[in-house]
Amino acid sequence: MSISSFFPPQRTLMGPGPSDVNPRVLSALARPTVGHLDPTFIGMMDEVKTLIQYAFQTNNTYTMAISAPGSAGMEACFVNLLTPNDTVVVCKNGVFGARMVENVTRIGAKAIVIEGEWGRAVNPQQLEDTLKQNPQASVVAFVHAETSTGALSDAQALCSIAKQYDCLTIVDAVTSLAGVELRVDDWGIDAVYSGSQKCLSCVPGLSPISFSEQAAELIKKRNAPVQSWFLDQSLVMDYWSGQGKRSYHHTAPVNSLYALHESLVILQNEGLEQSWQRHRTMHNKLAGGLEQLGINFIVPKEERLPQLNAVYIPEGVDDAAVRHTLLNDYNLEIGAGLGAFAGKAWRIGLMGYAARNENVTLCLAALKNTLPA
Ligand SMILES: *Cc1c(COP(=O)(O)O)cnc(C)c1O
Repeated sequence: MSISSFFPPQRTLMGPGPSDVNPRVLSALARPTVGHLDPTFIGMMDEVKTLIQYAFQTNNTYTMAISAPGSAGMEACFVNLLTPNDTVVVCKNGVFGARMVENVTRIGAKAIVIEGEWGRAVNPQQLEDTLKQNPQASVVAFVHAETSTGALSDAQALCSIAKQYDCLTIVDAVTSLAGVELRVDDWGIDAVYSGSQKCLSCVPGLSPISFSEQAAELIKKRNAPVQSWFLDQSLVMDYWSGQGKRSYHHTAPVNSLYALHESLVILQNEGLEQSWQRHRTMHNKLAGGLEQLGINFIVPKEERLPQLNAVYIPEGVDDAAVRHTLLNDYNLEIGAGLGAFAGKAWRIGLMGYAARNENVTLCLAALKNTLPA
């Protein structure tokens, strides 16, 4: 048996992630591997931390990248902050909110679930009413940018309500980071996680994460150890804390961190607000073209994510056949519907490096040629 090297096709990735990776990031990945405790690498990790702080708009000391995808960032927030005695209000308006509930219940904590409408932002009034009725709740969790539905929630308003009721906030910023406004410190977010493969346009497999001083204190003061050894942030924090006393916890994914470093340098060079604006501009272009094709958005205009365009599949159109043609004739990937939207929706991503004029043009032309007139 002789298996040869794998050469993937060159696709244009306009789905829910991974997004198109900037060639600069791919070339960073191919640089020589050094030891994960090599002084030069430790210096680079410190820069990664500073760059993540910039992307999140936070001064939190406990800011780092988990060596695993966004789902591990989610789990890290929940397992570190919760104990079985806690009551958590989870605002659920899609697949990722449902995963938050799953995290809470697996810990043995109590989840009070606010069932939101699919394709809509979380309703702040519903959160306020729920907190009023449940004074025992100590944590509020929600997804800022619901990738399964394309809805953007008002994280600032939700955090401000949570704070009025003395709750810590856990926010999923996997798809929002670098794609829409996100201000961790100004908005009072206590624990936030993201992913490398969405609007950062890095390779999949890393999860930027940050804890407020209050959240970090809570983790340090825990009586029972976190049940996950790998995700126990009191151990990982030592690994990322620098000042020359870094000790072995696990072997960092050295080359993937070069890639994350490069993607964050690209973000810094562009400017965070410019990146938010670019996603908005490309979204407007795409939305205009989709409307001309008679394709309708699921989410009301003011609640739409620019980086994830959830649209109804036009009546009589074969979902799988269209996506098959886009992939095979145009090397273009768009996302299928997820959960309640399976078979009913397409999710067209404009994330990071994918949010470019040429991608919008390609996607609109490919859809126009593929859809029946
Ligand atoms: C993609 C995504 C995740 C999970 O990230 P992975 O890197 O796939 O593990 C979590 N939450 C949201 C909102 C996402 O879009």
